[in-house]
Amino acid sequence: MREIILCKLGETVLKGANRSRFETTLLRTLRRRSEACGKFKVYMLQSTIYVEPLDENCQIDEMYERAKRVFGIVRVARAAECEKNMPAILQTAVEYLVPKMQGVKRFKVDAKRSDKSFPLKSPEISAQVGGVLLSKIKGLKVDVHNPEAMVRVEIRDRAAYVHAAQEAGAGGLPYGSSGRGLLLLSGGIDSPVAGYLMAKRGLELDALYFESAPYISEMAREKVLSLADKLCAYCGRLRVHIISLTEIQETLMRHCEEDYFTLLLRRFMMTLAEKTACHVGCGALITGESLGQVASQTLAAMAVTGAMVEMPVFRPCIGLDKEEIVTYSRRIDTFETSILPYEDCCTVFTPRHPRTQPKLDAFEAELAKVNFDELVESAWQTRQTCTRSI
Ligand code: ATP
Ligand code: MG
Repeated sequence: MREIILCKLGETVLKGANRSRFETTLLRTLRRRSEACGKFKVYMLQSTIYVEPLDENCQIDEMYERAKRVFGIVRVARAAECEKNMPAILQTAVEYLVPKMQGVKRFKVDAKRSDKSFPLKSPEISAQVGGVLLSKIKGLKVDVHNPEAMVRVEIRDRAAYVHAAQEAGAGGLPYGSSGRGLLLLSGGIDSPVAGYLMAKRGLELDALYFESAPYISEMAREKVLSLADKLCAYCGRLRVHIISLTEIQETLMRHCEEDYFTLLLRRFMMTLAEKTACHVGCGALITGESLGQVASQTLAAMAVTGAMVEMPVFRPCIGLDKEEIVTYSRRIDTFETSILPYEDCCTVFTPRHPRTQPKLDAFEAELAKVNFDELVESAWQTRQTCTRSI
């Protein structure tokens, strides 16, 4: 008995002219994700992607987990492949499904026959498969309206397939099908979630982390790289660009009013982020800001800090409560890493009374006290890149 993985496409199949581009992207992603799990054949038939192990060494459990994190797929199932005759189908149903269906009370069989030359019609196949399962599992009943378990049998051209229960896939659009965006990735809870939400809508990510050595320990950088590793479950591979803000922070401390400190720093961050995005071919910035969460995330503060940025800035957490963001971060497994206690560059020189309602002209007057372009250029020179992948 050979087990395969079936992936059902989501919204992508609805997208008319884009459909084949989306499908190609999806196939390429699944092929890449399968590479570390052994030799698989990945192909599409009738809006379903088949992921077939080609030898005994394939790690199908790991591949299944990976497939569940591929955007653009709405449902993932495992199925056993068998010869196209009723004795083989019934034997496979018993061997494959009986152990999985212990404790199930109500079930339904749904057979599909795309090979019309198969001698039995779908209802007859369903009846026979249902019959054999009823005879093997105690307390099981057929319930076509409200089944706990749905058993699918497919008769295709090459073989027959008996499906196990299916699970929800990652949803969204294929990774990379919407262009590329630069995620401002800090060590906090919000920015990894922001990256996940935009990747889910098809944006391929690069990440940018601002550090302030020696004020911040090396562990803070490791933490950010661990978060990048977690995001790789969805992105496959993630480049993390790192820029030092130390000189900018020290200069601001010397010359500018403390109340404006965070906002001025954020203006530098947004400018450096846009410069990085242009350099690496990203068309948008992504931040984890949530309206009103902290002083620098009021409407007025965001207007001031983002005023110079021309490319779109996506803030997918903007309308979410902290609790909702935490729920996402647990789901994508970044929460435990995000709450590790290392400082972030923004927490080092936090003003005692940060401005929540800054005026643009007062802000610009503070900014004029330092040489903005020179500081940006000098920070830009500190740029390094690490690449993470699964
Ligand atoms: P997070 O939980 O994502 O750290 P936060 O609630 O701590 O967010 P801020 O520190 O004000 O909020 O940061 C807002 C956003 O700015 C972050 O979500 C992130 O996108 C970006 N950002 C903040 N600090 C950094 C940093 N050191 N490197 C890169 N981006 C950063
Ligand atoms: Mg933060």
